[in-house]
Amino acid sequence: MRLYNVAGRAALGTPGGTVDIETASAGRYSADLMDVYANWTEFRDWVATWRPGDLDSRPLNDLEIGPPSPKPGQVFAIGLNYRGHAEEAGIALPKEPMVFTKFPSAVTGPYTTVALPSGSVDYEAELVVVIGTGGRDINIEEAWDHVAGLTVGQDLSDRETQLRPPDPQQFNLGKSFAGFAPIGPCLVTPDELSQPNDLEIRCVLNGEEMQKARTSEFLFSIPELIAALSSTVELRPGDLIFTGTPDGVGWTRDPRRLIGVDDQLTTIIEGIGEMRHAFTAPITERHRS
Ligand code: ZN
Repeated sequence: MRLYNVAGRAALGTPGGTVDIETASAGRYSADLMDVYANWTEFRDWVATWRPGDLDSRPLNDLEIGPPSPKPGQVFAIGLNYRGHAEEAGIALPKEPMVFTKFPSAVTGPYTTVALPSGSVDYEAELVVVIGTGGRDINIEEAWDHVAGLTVGQDLSDRETQLRPPDPQQFNLGKSFAGFAPIGPCLVTPDELSQPNDLEIRCVLNGEEMQKARTSEFLFSIPELIAALSSTVELRPGDLIFTGTPDGVGWTRDPRRLIGVDDQLTTIIEGIGEMRHAFTAPITERHRS
């Protein structure tokens, strides 16, 4: 199953585009994607038996597509989950997942324009897990049962804010400016992917490939992350887990390559799709011109 946010309404992917879920289910499910996640198991079973009948598909239009989980209660992110990124950051490999948060107000869709708060904004291509059934103390063996699906994400990061003193700095604010948590273009359920633990992930900035890896390189697998997080916090339907970025970020390149106005950022994950983001000047500069 592919699940979309089309103009703010829950929609199901079809060969011809999407169909509106509230219409297709005759009102059994609302247009609110967060309601869909709240009833995930029942919804998945309904989709398995649903037939399109004479419902017309609406062709996909990038301008209408929003984030597949628009109002997650919690957004977790993993700091170091690829060996190469830990090495380029000069940080020892973690023995436990390194966890921070992106505040939910940073969530945006897959084809938006993001205002740069500074000249130190960096890209981080990431696979994002969307939680279906929540819970605490979830076992590794049962963790995939709690996953609604996977989507593409960018953990946009203002490095100056992220690393600014006083120590110990929290990453959270530098990762949470408006539009800094794009996800999309759709949620893909794990059964749609032949190898959900081994997907190619790429990040392209103005046509130049900056990051390329496979999610099989994770230091902590998706089940291990879910078990670790849920041993402390209750995971809830629609929550997001940004699973970490591979090596190749702009901050540690020589010379540095940070995101500038008019740059085009493309984030691609095999079997899921791609996001494309544009960037504008900081708001203060726009007011000046
Ligand atoms: Zn990240």
